[in-house]
Amino acid sequence: MEVPEPLTNLKIQYTKIFINNEWHNSVSGKKFPVINPATEEKICDVEEGDKEDVDKAVKAARQAFQLGSPWRTMDASERGQLLNKLADLMERDRLLLATMEALNAGKIFANAYLMDLRLSANIIRYYASWTDKIQGRTIPIDGKFFTYTRHEPIGVCGQILPWNFPLVVTVVKMAPALCCGNTVVIKPAEQTPLTILYLASLIKEAGFPPGVVNIVPGYGPTAGAAISSHMDIDKVSFTGSTEVGLLIKQAAGKSNLKRVTLELGGKSPCIVFADADLDSAVETAHQGLFFHQGQCCIAASRLFVEESIYDEFVRKSVERAKKYTLGNPLKPGILQGPQIDKEQYNKILDLIESGKKEGAKLECGGGPWGDKGFFIQPTVFSNVTDGMRIAKEEIFGPVQQIMKFKTIDEVIKRANNTHYGLSGAVFTKDLDKALTVSSALQVGTVWVNCYGVNSCQAPFGGFKMSGNGREMGENGLHEYIEVKTVTIKVSEKNS
Ligand code: ADP
Repeated sequence: MEVPEPLTNLKIQYTKIFINNEWHNSVSGKKFPVINPATEEKICDVEEGDKEDVDKAVKAARQAFQLGSPWRTMDASERGQLLNKLADLMERDRLLLATMEALNAGKIFANAYLMDLRLSANIIRYYASWTDKIQGRTIPIDGKFFTYTRHEPIGVCGQILPWNFPLVVTVVKMAPALCCGNTVVIKPAEQTPLTILYLASLIKEAGFPPGVVNIVPGYGPTAGAAISSHMDIDKVSFTGSTEVGLLIKQAAGKSNLKRVTLELGGKSPCIVFADADLDSAVETAHQGLFFHQGQCCIAASRLFVEESIYDEFVRKSVERAKKYTLGNPLKPGILQGPQIDKEQYNKILDLIESGKKEGAKLECGGGPWGDKGFFIQPTVFSNVTDGMRIAKEEIFGPVQQIMKFKTIDEVIKRANNTHYGLSGAVFTKDLDKALTVSSALQVGTVWVNCYGVNSCQAPFGGFKMSGNGREMGENGLHEYIEVKTVTIKVSEKNS
């Protein structure tokens, strides 16, 4: 597909809190700055939501969820039509949204246009087609009874978002919630509220009733915590760090035991056997780590390579990592943009330093790039051992760790020796090896001879401390449904 030029006259129109299909100032009167990570310049100020604003949004969402409301009495198929309309509008404004995503999130424009925008519309359309196919069952229980189940919406759903895929993760959460008939209160990450506020305007234009979708930009410990501890929110879904995931689950436990879905960090093993197609494995593992500056929860950040091909694999990986042009992600020809903010940038540089100190071999990169913006050189470490911080902690940056292994049993054990369990990959031409490793990895997604292939039709989520629940696919719907069993006494029953 042809990629157009990004917009040069982008105007930021929407900077307020979106409640009941209207724009609100924050109750406190506070605003917060939104920064362009490529230049460190302020793009605009956005209204800063806090507890009182979350309360207002929850009231609106609750009102929209009342029995007899336009949303509750709407045909399921009409919910599907509204979602499809929203996807149409996103496609109409694809260029604007992709430009805004690149500007605010530091995404390479072509990736934002081709990947984020396409995937977002696909996810919405996928769930649009499910609205009138969510069905209960009739169940032949013992005795003279007629029993059926209803799959009902849960209620008001809080959705707390990360900054790495602002639009994609919004629709990953919002579309199934709306598909099932819930109402939502969304908190974008403080770094990246802009495309999500623009999306709010499209939600209104599509014709969703007021209060069905509410968007409260703000910070985590204030607006985010107000959602996770709210007594009138029935469910919270969160994507972000494992540390904050723990806080969210605690807050749910300490408040009203709201249902919790978590998609958290990862330290994904990528295992390359000597019989794999070497060039393809090098390139795929490279993309698996360096895509979006390494800021992906699924990043292939523990690369295990079989001893006999190790040196060649490292040499080719270093050659590949050196092929980058860094710079403003809106400019043509740029292949790597900035990290999202100063905090992430410092954290990544600190981990790089730890790798050097702990004895890993720095093959290339290893420091900051440029004189403004949060850029980090593509970095490759070899001779990495399992105990090093760079082999254990989620780096979320363009830093590749290459480890050596000898046997399949050894590598499986090492791959699973982590509290993370999001994803993993295996590269081999041997079907037995591929199946053995796929079964043995304690992760939610395994890729064989490929990496990062996520699609709206297939479930995604983590084992262990990488999360709870699944998003996308039919499984993603289960997270937004309560199953109700209705049993009716009957005078006579026949088989
Ligand atoms: P990162 O460390 O990558 O920035 P976080 O997990 O801190 O990721 O943030 C992801 C999302 O969680 C953001 O929307 C952020 O505002 C929110 N958040 C951060 N702290 C809390 C908290 N204590 N309670 C609820 N949400 C939070």
